[in-house]
Amino acid sequence: MLNSFSLFCFFHRVVEPWIPVRLELANLYVFIGSIALTGLIWGVGFAMFILQEGEAQIQILMVLCTIGLCSGGVVAYLPFVWLAVAFDLFILGPGIACMLVNQLSLPLASLVSLFCVYMVFMVFMVFRGNQEYWDALENEFLLEAKTKDLERISQKDGLTGLYNRRYFDTAFELEWKRGIRNQTGITMMIFDIDHFKQVNDTFGHLAGDKYLKLTARLLNQVFQRETDMVARYGGEEFVVLLSESTLENALDLAERVREKMVDSVLAFEAHFIRATVSIGVAKLIPQTSGERTILISMADSALYAAKENGRNQVRVFDNNCPLNPQASAVSF
Ligand code: GH3
Ligand code: MG
Ligand code: MG
Repeated sequence: MLNSFSLFCFFHRVVEPWIPVRLELANLYVFIGSIALTGLIWGVGFAMFILQEGEAQIQILMVLCTIGLCSGGVVAYLPFVWLAVAFDLFILGPGIACMLVNQLSLPLASLVSLFCVYMVFMVFMVFRGNQEYWDALENEFLLEAKTKDLERISQKDGLTGLYNRRYFDTAFELEWKRGIRNQTGITMMIFDIDHFKQVNDTFGHLAGDKYLKLTARLLNQVFQRETDMVARYGGEEFVVLLSESTLENALDLAERVREKMVDSVLAFEAHFIRATVSIGVAKLIPQTSGERTILISMADSALYAAKENGRNQVRVFDNNCPLNPQASAVSF
């Protein structure tokens, strides 16, 4: 009987991952019931065996096995305190009862006393161990959540909440490798707020900070696809990476940001602040032989051309774009 029940428990464990969620509660009852019954079957079997006469050595062996089983059960079912206690009681209870109501030989009688002490000790251990188990689990969850928080914070720019330059560099490297593998084009846009220094100089850095936040919001409104990567590149410059996008689509999106900037007004204290943005756009299909910094230089040159041409405009990279002298001096 015990064997067939153990087989059933084993079968239940194997099929458990495939049991539908809607049967979760029934599944739990089957789990608890099967554990409790296993304990009870062993306990009753043990009690019956203990009554047999002339089997002292085997009886002592059985007592030791039962104690071992009990300890194993406590460890295995520690997360569910009442299940562990019930398992314990079901295994030990019938045996203790039988030993108490029957005339016992001296070695067996002393074992009964030990048995009772052991049962109390086990119940105590279940409560203590259960508390420690859940404390450890809670700490692990807290640690995991904190690690995730730290990871998220380290990827984000503190002022605007956009991805920071460090995250951008990593994401760009991965995107570049993916582009080489799939031979898909990558589009990069660099946004630079026009005459931003004047905003700071006229209204103060707090106003400048607020304007940077406003710009980040506008960018997030326009670039909403999951594959769009918007990051603060540094200072008043933002960068957007688009994968699997046509150049026309990218230009259309850049133009929408430019228009939104023109239409937006930042109310700061008694002032209304307006600014514009210049945007450089470049697209290429990455090659194994090429460095990814070439795409940054191209977008930067287009941006430089937009600035040279009077600002507040979108410019796509072509061979007429002058090379930005600042960009060529920077090593990425
Ligand atoms: P251009 O049209 O040529 O881009 O002119 P610009 O004034 O925008 O460019 P410039 O590089 O001369 O000035 C950038 C300014 O951005 C200077 C710096 O004080 C300001 N800035 C950079 N980072 C921050 C920031 O985090 N907060 C604020 N408030 N200002 C910043
Ligand atoms: Mg700049
Ligand atoms: Mg600027």
